[in-house]
Amino acid sequence: QLPPIDGDFYNLDLKLSKEDRDIQLQVRNFMEDEVKPLVNDHWNRAKFPFQIIEKFAKLNIAGIAYEGYGCANKSFLLEGIIAQELARVDVSISTFFGVHSGLAMGSIYLCGSEEQKQEWLPAMQRLEKIGAFGLTEPNVGSAVAGGMETTCKRIDGNWILNGQKKWIGNATFADVIIIWARDEDSNQVKGFLVRKENPGFKAEKMEDKMALRIVQNAIITLTNCSVPESDRLQNANSFKDTAKVLQMTRAGVAWQAVGCARGAYEAALKYTKKREQFGRPIASFQLIQNHLVEMVSNLTAMQTLCFRLSELQDQKLLTDEHASLAKVFCSMRTRDVVGRAREVMGGNGILLEYDVARFVADAEAIYSYEGTKEINSLIVGRAITGYSAFVN
Ligand code: FAD
Repeated sequence: QLPPIDGDFYNLDLKLSKEDRDIQLQVRNFMEDEVKPLVNDHWNRAKFPFQIIEKFAKLNIAGIAYEGYGCANKSFLLEGIIAQELARVDVSISTFFGVHSGLAMGSIYLCGSEEQKQEWLPAMQRLEKIGAFGLTEPNVGSAVAGGMETTCKRIDGNWILNGQKKWIGNATFADVIIIWARDEDSNQVKGFLVRKENPGFKAEKMEDKMALRIVQNAIITLTNCSVPESDRLQNANSFKDTAKVLQMTRAGVAWQAVGCARGAYEAALKYTKKREQFGRPIASFQLIQNHLVEMVSNLTAMQTLCFRLSELQDQKLLTDEHASLAKVFCSMRTRDVVGRAREVMGGNGILLEYDVARFVADAEAIYSYEGTKEINSLIVGRAITGYSAFVN
């Protein structure tokens, strides 16, 4: 039995099998017992808590929806529920995991050869090797599909990579970084497994972020970085293959937004029941109850949408526009929820020790990464109208 919790108003957790709920509970307990006591301090100092990795690995949840290579072959629904559980306590830890398990492992799972999958996925599943995903660049973010400046050129048996990547999560310590680059000859985007020890690869930590401070984002510089053909993702032949990875991970980011909103709502609800003003708990005031109801309505709408999203994913019916709609809706609604959570906590809403301030800041990162609100809206707009508003 899961401990009683406030942020699952429609009891959607009951739709999970007993086995999946046990996994959910293990993740929840790990996050509450091992991660929660560390997060505010690490967030404040912008440090990653490497000490949690060993216990994190024991949860056995990396690549949980993939088949083979040590992965559990469970549902995308369970994967989404796990993203929610991680983000409910800390969005940075959930992002570290999403980059590793979704973007990096997912690129290898969807675009790698059998040998590449055998080499990387089992070790990444055990978190013995950590992955990163380098797509965005200093000059090109939203327009990366057509405007990528990082290049690759085949010279004999090797590929020479040159360029820069920006915002790359985990890249300061990852063992393997998936780098996307445009082929100077064919003009197509290709993917590469760049190993951290490669002398042409340099990752510098980005400082002074106001969100996701635990995530170690990096600027990557590739200078005549030589990668053997055997480390080119063998089934990534154009940006369409990159987009397959993003479709899968955008669904995960929608769930992450749900977790962020849920964590903030639960903290705010608890606070308003305890905090007294005018001789009564502030939860008894009508205007405060209105905020709480707005929060739980948004949260429940997001959860039910994401449940259906994952069902579509499990039935292999997920489209880019399904994933984009969920990402847009959830990242917008989460901003509203965390804003109200911060509001009902008064001044304490901006203090780290009350947790909600961290959710407010981190919701801003969710809002922008894996496609901004505008870009994901345009993907949905194109699907429903038949007109593409993208200009290249
Ligand atoms: P821009 O593309 O410069 O956009 C600026 C503004 O213009 C936005 O509001 C955008 O919506 C708008 N805009 C752009 N084009 C249009 C248009 N056609 N119509 C209307 N509006 C438009 N990337 C990785 O590759 N790997 C990572 O691990 C990674 N981690 C990240 C972590 C964090 C915390 C953040 C903030 C970003 C991360 N990113 C990562 C990058 C992220 O995906 C980009 O920030 C995002 O795609 C937006 O790109 P940009 O920041 O360059 O904004």
